[in-house]
Amino acid sequence: MDMMKKVPVREQDPKVRATNFEEVCYGYNEEEAVNESTRCLNCKNARCIQGCPVNINIPGFISKVKENNFEEAYQIISESSALPAVCGRVCPQESQCEGKCVRGIKGEAVSIGKLERFVADWARENGIKPKKAEESNGHKVAVVGAGPAGLTCAGDLARLGYEVTIFEALHQPGGVLSYGIPEFRLPKDKVVQAEIENVKSLGVKIETNVVVGKADTVDELLEEGFEAVFIGSGAGLPRFMGIPGEQANGVFSANEFLTRNNLMKAFKEGYETPISRGKKVVVVGGGNVAMDAARTALRLGAETHIVYRRSEAELPARAEEVHHAKEEGIVFDLLQNPTEILVDENGWVKGIKIIKMELGEPDESGRRRPVEIPGSEYEIECDTVIMSLGTSPNPLISSTTYGLDVNRRKCIIASEETGQTSKEGVFAGGDAVTGAATVILAMGAGKKAAKGIDEFIKSKN
Ligand SMILES: Cc1cc2nc3c(=O)[nH]c(=O)nc-3n(C[C@H](O)[C@H](O)[C@H](O)COP(=O)(O)OP(=O)(O)OC[C@H]3O[C@@H](n4cnc5c(N)ncnc54)[C@H](O)[C@@H]3O)c2cc1C
Repeated sequence: MDMMKKVPVREQDPKVRATNFEEVCYGYNEEEAVNESTRCLNCKNARCIQGCPVNINIPGFISKVKENNFEEAYQIISESSALPAVCGRVCPQESQCEGKCVRGIKGEAVSIGKLERFVADWARENGIKPKKAEESNGHKVAVVGAGPAGLTCAGDLARLGYEVTIFEALHQPGGVLSYGIPEFRLPKDKVVQAEIENVKSLGVKIETNVVVGKADTVDELLEEGFEAVFIGSGAGLPRFMGIPGEQANGVFSANEFLTRNNLMKAFKEGYETPISRGKKVVVVGGGNVAMDAARTALRLGAETHIVYRRSEAELPARAEEVHHAKEEGIVFDLLQNPTEILVDENGWVKGIKIIKMELGEPDESGRRRPVEIPGSEYEIECDTVIMSLGTSPNPLISSTTYGLDVNRRKCIIASEETGQTSKEGVFAGGDAVTGAATVILAMGAGKKAAKGIDEFIKSKN
C-alpha cells in the first residue's frame, strides 16, 4: 500500500452510469476503510477538526476504524453530526477537513469523507442508532424547515432534553437533501430518510405540509407556547436572467427541474409528475447545482450542454463534480452567455441565442469579469433550457414576522455565534442567513443556534 495516496474508491463506469440514477460512488468496504484508516497520523493538534464546521473528533473516530470498532466510531461521529452518511457523500472535504490534513502536505490527504461515509453506512446496515436524548426538560422549541440546519438544531436540542417540533413546508423532510441533490449522488430512501429517522429517534417531531407564514406565523408559534423558534428555511427562490423568451415552455429553474425528479420521482416509471425529457438541453450556469441539473438531464436521455460565461478556471462547481460531468459526456460551452431564448409558434423553446465572451479585469469577487465579444452571437437548437444562476431566501417568513431584520439580499440577519436574530426568542441559521452555501455550514449554524437557544431559555427560567 502506498501511504502517500488514498485507497482508491470504486465508482460506476461513466458510460453505464450516464443512463441510470444509481449511486455513482460505491464507497469503501471494511477492508478498504481499515487500510485507509492506517494512513491517519492521529495528530495531537488535529487541524482536520478545526477544518470541520461541526468539529467532529476525526482522529478519534478514525482510530476506532483502525481497531475494527465501527460502532464506537459511529458514536464518536454522531456526538457532533446528525447526518454523517449525507456529509460523507456531499461535503466539500477538499476545502475543509481534508484540506487541513497534514498528510496532504507531501501526498494525498486521508480520505476522511469516505471513512465517515463508511462508518455511517455500516451503522445503518447494522441497526446502530445515535445515543438517546436526556429526559424531557418540559421546554418547547419550534423549528421552521427540515433541512440540514433545522434537523441539526432540532437534534441537538432534543439531546439536551427539549421538546422540539419541526414545521416543514414540503411533504417530505430533508430540504435540499431531499428535493435538490440527485439520487445518484445522495440516495434518498437509503441515506437521507434513514438519517432523518435517526433525528426523530431522539424525540424530534416533524410536521410536514406546514408553510410557516401562511399557516401559523413565527409570532403565532411564540404565542402558542414555543419558548423559542429557529428559522432554517433555506434559500430556495431561483434567479432568472431577464432575457427575452425566458417565460417559454421548456424553460425551468434548476430547482424546479431537480424537485420534479428528486422529490416527485418524475424519472421513475409510474410517477405522475411530468418532466421534460429533452433531446437537447442547455443548462446555464457553472455551479454545483448546474452540474446536478445537467447530469440529471443527461440521464433522462438528452444531449446536454453547460453554457457558462467565464472559463474553466472560474467554474464555481467542485472539481470532482466537473470531472464526473465530463466523464459522463456533458459538453462544456465556456466563455459564452445566452442573450435570448428562441420560441416557436406554440410557445415552446426551439433554440437559444448565445454570445461569446472574453475575460476582462477582475470584479469585486476577485474573478476576471466576462465581457461580450461584439458581433460573436450565434444560435443553437435546443428544446429545454435550465437556468441555474443561484437562489435567494424566500421573503415569506421575514415579511410575516414582526421585527425580524433582513439584509438587502433578503437574508435574515443573525449572530454567527448564537443564531440570535433582531427578535427576542427567534434564532436563524443556514442558507436563510448566508444565502446558498453548503450542507455542513448549515449544520454548523444549526448547532450554534441550539446552544444559543439553550442559553436563552435557561436565562429566562
Ligand atoms: C441542487 C443542489 C445541490 C447541492 N449540492 C451540495 C453539495 O454537494 N454539497 C453541499 O455541501 N451543499 C450542496 N448544496 C447546498 C446545500 O444543500 C444547502 O446549502 C443546504 O441544504 C442548506 O441547508 P438549510 O437547512 O439552510 O436549507 P434547505 O436545505 O434549503 O432546507 C430548508 C427547508 O425549509 C423549508 N421551508 C422553507 N420555507 C418554509 C416555510 N415558510 N415553512 C416551513 N418550511 C419552510 C424548505 O421546504 C426546506 O425543506 C446543494 C444545493 C442544491 C440546490
